[in-house]
Amino acid sequence: MAAPRIGVTCDLERGRERAFLRATYLQAITAAGGLPLLLPPVKPELAAGYLAIIDGLLLTGGGDIEPSFFNARPQAGLYKVLPERDAFELALTRAALAAGKPVLAICRGVQVLNVAAGGNLYQDIKTEVPGALEHNQAGPREQPSHDIKVIPGTRLAGILGAAARVNSLHHQAVRRVGKGLRVSAVAPDGLIEALEGDGEVVVIGVQWHPEDLYGHDRRQKYLFEYFVEQFLG
Ligand code: MN
Repeated sequence: MAAPRIGVTCDLERGRERAFLRATYLQAITAAGGLPLLLPPVKPELAAGYLAIIDGLLLTGGGDIEPSFFNARPQAGLYKVLPERDAFELALTRAALAAGKPVLAICRGVQVLNVAAGGNLYQDIKTEVPGALEHNQAGPREQPSHDIKVIPGTRLAGILGAAARVNSLHHQAVRRVGKGLRVSAVAPDGLIEALEGDGEVVVIGVQWHPEDLYGHDRRQKYLFEYFVEQFLG
């Protein structure tokens, strides 16, 4: 069978001159046997056209979501907001969920997934969750910095087991969980670190960056293999 076509969202430079992506996402998809297709942020009306030519969707990292997309007013600490990227990715994600296409969502991606499903976010952990762990680690992204507990019985528990140590490069987090999603991992401070779909379709979102953790933990590579291999029947 041909390699599964995985649509991978791109970031935009602040000045909008370039769309770009950290190549580790692409390496992770090809290493798992997938065919990555870059999906640049274009007008939301084009999302359906992309959805028609991909088997699965990978939502990647980046800046913050414009709070009006989850009916909130901007709080202090917002970082690199690009509403046109948000609008495109939210349209794409809603279309994927409606069509029953599998989704893997990483870092900003899990936040996009949650907002697409009607959930909302903490806009800045330090401001809104006093006493939370440091979730914006100072060390290299290839190194883990905090533990997570995986919720028993979830799809993620079948992939990672009961616990893991992950990197953490976020200052926002999932707050109210959207419709059709459930929590699959939490940090020791109680913040949500992973979500998944509550149905048959593979919808997995993680707040960490598994594509940068291979050297530390083989199970993070298995997450990509699990996602790509589902299409190989
Ligand atoms: Mn974290």
